[in-house]
Amino acid sequence: MVPHPNRRMARQLAQVDADLCASCGICVGSCPSSTPFRSMAELVTGIDLPHSPINQLRQKLKADLESLTSNQKIVVFGCDHGANIDVLRGSGVATFSLVCTGMLPPSFIEYALRDGASGVLVTGCQNGGCEFRLGQKWTQARLEGQREPSLRASVSRSHLQIIWADVGDEAALKQALSTLKNRIALTQGPLPTVEPI
Ligand code: SF4
Repeated sequence: MVPHPNRRMARQLAQVDADLCASCGICVGSCPSSTPFRSMAELVTGIDLPHSPINQLRQKLKADLESLTSNQKIVVFGCDHGANIDVLRGSGVATFSLVCTGMLPPSFIEYALRDGASGVLVTGCQNGGCEFRLGQKWTQARLEGQREPSLRASVSRSHLQIIWADVGDEAALKQALSTLKNRIALTQGPLPTVEPI
């Protein structure tokens, strides 16, 4: 912690020590400014991974959703260290592997659903197996509304599937995708659109 440049606003400011940073991106997922609903052409957040900026994720999400040809479009957010989400990729499934699932701002789930996804699957290493120790725990807490930034309560949980799966658990991933698809098929009607903030 270092002295805040504007002492009237706060006393201290968190400052990253690059030599100690593990490049997990968990801070990106926790920053309220990482929400993709912001209307700016380039999504600039409070803290970012230079080699994997959050703006890139928003751009790729939009492009991949537009390129999906299936009526049932599924977005999968996963982790480079967990089960291999590439096994799910197909005409109706877009996959996004993050450095750690903890890098995912929960608002990206809502954004994907508002932007045409029929459902979102979130995966990452199992509890206790996170490469960066707490990414899985924080992500789960955010998605359950127990930790900020949390997934809004208004987001339909029937369109969201969470599966914690390690390398080698790809069969469980496929089963989770199948479960999500079947559940979505039982629901009807498109989700309402919202204006960007
Ligand atoms: S949360 Fe991860 S990426 Fe962010 S500063 Fe800490 S170690 Fe680095």
